[in-house]
Amino acid sequence: MRLSPRIEGIGESATLALDARYKALKQSGVDVVGFGAGEPDFPTPEHIKEAGIAAIRANFTRYTAAGGIDELRTAIADRLREDQGVRYEPAQTIVTSGAKHAIYNVVQALCAEGDEVIIPAPYWVSYPEIVKTAGATPVILECRESEGWRIDPERLKRAITRRTRLVIVNSPGNPTGWIGSRDEMQSLVDLANAHDFYVLSDEIYSKLAPPKTFVGPATLPRATDRVIVVDGVSKAYSMTGWRIGWAIGPKPLVQAMLRFQSQATSHPSSVSQKAAVAALRGDQSVVRTMADEFEKRRRLMVDGLRRIPGFTLAEPKGAFYAFPRVSTFFGGKVGNVVIRDSASFAETCLDVARVAIVPGAPFGAEGHVRLSYATSNDEIQRGLDRLAEFARSIERPARSTPPAIHG
Ligand code: PMP
Ligand code: GLU
Repeated sequence: MRLSPRIEGIGESATLALDARYKALKQSGVDVVGFGAGEPDFPTPEHIKEAGIAAIRANFTRYTAAGGIDELRTAIADRLREDQGVRYEPAQTIVTSGAKHAIYNVVQALCAEGDEVIIPAPYWVSYPEIVKTAGATPVILECRESEGWRIDPERLKRAITRRTRLVIVNSPGNPTGWIGSRDEMQSLVDLANAHDFYVLSDEIYSKLAPPKTFVGPATLPRATDRVIVVDGVSKAYSMTGWRIGWAIGPKPLVQAMLRFQSQATSHPSSVSQKAAVAALRGDQSVVRTMADEFEKRRRLMVDGLRRIPGFTLAEPKGAFYAFPRVSTFFGGKVGNVVIRDSASFAETCLDVARVAIVPGAPFGAEGHVRLSYATSNDEIQRGLDRLAEFARSIERPARSTPPAIHG
């Protein structure tokens, strides 16, 4: 069948594909530990669920405005003002079906054939693919583990061309846990002004960051009209399935996204929008409680991984992922299976040790694997025990020279 060349070249989301495999195995009764998709295991807080139920009972089940209900757009602007001290009008916000969809809308509205979008690597798996759906070109900017994955302004400058339209930045970052400093963010904003491009700041993990560590680029001098903030309720309020995200930015861009959305998905679910209002207006201590729990889990995961010979790990500062290097195992064997790369490492780990992890390659960092610790302490411990056993079972070549990998 002949498909559109744009879609033909798009890969399936590696994280969602792995999650589907993990959930299918689990459903069929296999005892498998899930360190795969980044999905908090907490239930959505009660008062948010109640708001969704109340919306159904009140028959709030019809079409809404394409950009989302005013009540939610106002709540989004108010929350950003409260959290970061920046003022936006509700008309500068648009509600989307998840943050992924907000990123998609921004890229569709801003980028055309021939435009370049700079993506610091390691990156979240969906960024390059979303850029390709617009016919634009992802330009990967390598960041180094030895430098704490920071965005080096000199290397960034070298990646900028006349075609650069957008830089996508994700702090706290998936998969590395990097948190951008004020200086890093300011140089990014300054370069955006100097070279006339935009900054998409994906802040989906920002509310879960340790206090006073996250710097939103929108709060910095000269950021007005350069920065587009993307966020959502999935991670901070444990609402992945409700599918509510948003973008905040320059009015003409938001209006373009609104027109586009009105022809594509109309608007996100009416019921979910009401639940999101309750999340943003309600007691914010639910977020801190979850964040504190993630902090404990981070310690357990990091300390546990560091005790496994062959795993090397830079400490994640935020989000809920560990991104260890496992390339010392490459060339090794488990039974007859040769572990060649991060994909075969993750595949064999699921087949043999029954632990779901994501290979580093789709994040632009071959040599690594990603483990989500958004799961219970018991699950983390069970998974770590299995991983240690798995690592022991890999017969490594006598003199294993890890392949040269960036970072
Ligand atoms: N950005 C990043 C960095 C993510 O890890 C995710 C994963 N959920 C998203 C955006 C999208 O989140 P959602 O579409 O569930 O709001
Ligand atoms: N963002 C999460 C992850 O990276 C959820 C899956 C997805 O949307 O890609 O695992």
